[in-house]
Amino acid sequence: MACDVCGDMEDGYVVLIEGARMNTCQECASLGRIISTPVRYSPAARVKTTKQELEMVENFGEEIQKGMKRTGLPVAVLAERINEKVSFLERVVNQKTLPGEHLARKLEHELGIKLLVPASSGEEKKPSGGGGKEMTLGDVLELQKKKKGDK
Ligand SMILES: [Zn+2]
Repeated sequence: MACDVCGDMEDGYVVLIEGARMNTCQECASLGRIISTPVRYSPAARVKTTKQELEMVENFGEEIQKGMKRTGLPVAVLAERINEKVSFLERVVNQKTLPGEHLARKLEHELGIKLLVPASSGEEKKPSGGGGKEMTLGDVLELQKKKKGDK
């Protein structure tokens, strides 16, 4: 495959030159009306890789519960707002189901919480002392007090 006009090995453009369909190189493409350009650079194929990977925070159920408490939204109302079934939302809150990114975004928006963090940074992960132990609101407040005391 080569340019129909100049014989250059680089082609990929399909142009209309004086009524004739020609395969041409980039330079010769300007001689006619371009019908199609090379498909080597497909923007659609790259979209996924350019975005940073995100991961769900470990205690997303707790975060959602905290958000609901703060906003005063009962599960039923929240479920309606984000267009999900109450039973499904309850499963998410109980961490039996991992919400998808789209759902997580909606929850973040409705509750003003942070559920998705960049996968590379481990900063968001809280030091969980005795693996599996659930933190109560009291524990959280205690932790915040300690943090303030350190500085
Ligand atoms: Zn050419």
